[in-house]
Amino acid sequence: MNIKRLIRPELVKMKSYTPIEPTEILSQEGELPAEKVIKLDGNENPYGCSPKVYQALATYPYYHNYPDPEQRELRKALEKYTGLSRRHIVCGMGSDELIDLILRLFLKPGDEVINCPPTFGMYPFSTDVCGGKVVDVPRTEGFALDVAGIRKAVTRKTKVIFVASPNNPTGNVATEQEVTELVGTGKIVVVDEAYFEFSNVTVANLVPNYPNLIVLRTFSKWAGLAGLRIGYGFFPVEIADYLMKIKQPYNASAAAQAAVLASLADTEYLRANVARIVKERERLFGKLKELDWLKPYPSQANFILCSLNYPPAVIASDLPAKAWQAGAKQSLAKEIWAQLRKRSIFVRYFDTPELKDCLRISVGRPEDTDALIEALKALSVIASPDLSGRSNLNHSPLP
Ligand code: PMP
Repeated sequence: MNIKRLIRPELVKMKSYTPIEPTEILSQEGELPAEKVIKLDGNENPYGCSPKVYQALATYPYYHNYPDPEQRELRKALEKYTGLSRRHIVCGMGSDELIDLILRLFLKPGDEVINCPPTFGMYPFSTDVCGGKVVDVPRTEGFALDVAGIRKAVTRKTKVIFVASPNNPTGNVATEQEVTELVGTGKIVVVDEAYFEFSNVTVANLVPNYPNLIVLRTFSKWAGLAGLRIGYGFFPVEIADYLMKIKQPYNASAAAQAAVLASLADTEYLRANVARIVKERERLFGKLKELDWLKPYPSQANFILCSLNYPPAVIASDLPAKAWQAGAKQSLAKEIWAQLRKRSIFVRYFDTPELKDCLRISVGRPEDTDALIEALKALSVIASPDLSGRSNLNHSPLP
């Protein structure tokens, strides 16, 4: 029986999303104790969640019951935390689920979704799964949105425009003016503020003013709940009502709901960790900048994108030199990524044309920064004369 023939043809062809691995797997694969894994690949919170979450999960009495399909307690607590009416709020199994739900709500097969790469891979992934067509409008200098380009790319078939702010992996924010210009196209504009707590820049206050503006948030980053999968969004009331109608009734698990309530009762603790991460981000940025073969981009999130687009005057002593000599297909960034892995330091490498010469490094604890910088320095050996002229290593400059 040919199962493949039964599967939607666009799904047979579609590219998979490359996810990261959890600490337990990295530790098993690398045969190292979990505490030795320096995990800087998932933009996760190195300080974990609030201790109140453990308490709440240990004592929650109703795991045998389905959770509230209306998410009443959760939306009430989020109304208090965010200042926006609960009528605008819908929670999902991570903001990933909300991205998928939005597309399921709006897309007919062949409808278009505008994506602004380099950006979060879940927008094209979910568009593909939902039978839509991704229309890429690449970012310009300094990774700014190409608003004029987006407006030009809008067609009758365009349904949704995705904008991450701060953008993953570049770390820069979209301005309010850019967002309102996009909203002016009349298409659904989704501003993904997964990293809001690290930037304090938001357009959430605009949601009640427009019928087509959506803002997404998550508890994965600032509150350290990535493993429990819980995010939320602010939607125009009409859209919120439709999402409540089409979502799986019990999408926000009892554990996730209890964890959010405990987190929102401990914001002072969580905000102190956010402040530590922001401070460490600036220290990490300074240290990365000192390495003359790396170019870190300023970030308002909990990660830093670095480009290795420089003609490398510096190479790793134990890199297989042949692998990335002039004209080599293998990117230097991938080599550095692999070498760091050998040292149990995990950063994110993206195998895409626009990011093949970049690494994204999540902000960890000060000791993680120190270990990373030490490893990068150990990988930095001034190129021997016969290798130093490799300025023609086939790097394409980033936009
Ligand atoms: N949006 C962006 C921009 C992200 O970087 C991420 C996480 N990588 C998400 C959404 C997904 O977050 P969640 O864990 O809430 O699904």
